[in-house]
Amino acid sequence: GGVACSSGMSAVTLSLLNILQAGDEVIAGSALFGGTLDLLHDLEAFGIKVHFIPRVEKALIEPFLTDKTRAVFGEIVGNPALNVMDVRETADFLHGKGVPLIVDSTTSTPYLLNPIQYGADVVVHSTSKYINGSGDAISGIIIDSGNFDWDAYGEKFHGLTRPDESYHGIVYTEHFGKSAYIAKINAQLMRDL
Ligand SMILES: *Cc1c(COP(=O)(O)O)cnc(C)c1O
Repeated sequence: GGVACSSGMSAVTLSLLNILQAGDEVIAGSALFGGTLDLLHDLEAFGIKVHFIPRVEKALIEPFLTDKTRAVFGEIVGNPALNVMDVRETADFLHGKGVPLIVDSTTSTPYLLNPIQYGADVVVHSTSKYINGSGDAISGIIIDSGNFDWDAYGEKFHGLTRPDESYHGIVYTEHFGKSAYIAKINAQLMRDL
């Protein structure tokens, strides 16, 4: 499933806020798009700790993985650093550890790469860039593979696995199955913001 957003930064922000709460931790590249780095620093004010690693790869992720880790976030081709991430190796390492891999694939574009084929759980794009073609309009998109098993790690992802009183008491994973993550964004964050 996918959800269109009003900017790339909106897509990045909502992709993370959809599964984070105070006390949670994220592991992210330190050579990301500047706006994303600012966002990740700003999340600290809400009790979300971000560990920055110079490259998003197994050996550097491993020391920071804890039972509080809720996501690993990286850019497949960094903007502007152009560092390249091995999506398959990172995804294979994270799967079975209960941590979704969220990738920003803006620079690699959907024309050149489908990160879901390489195991990414959630993909975001700033569609203000190559997809737009001329950079004269702002937009973003979040694509969920539907492959991450939120229920298997329900204790970590309460927002998806416990009733949402603001939305008819629905449990997203029960009611929406593989669309749970996107359904929650639509029902909550898109309503709020
Ligand atoms: C531009 C960009 C963003 C932010 O997108 P906006 O549409 O400008 O909000 C996020 N990630 C990457 C990699 C970008 O290049």
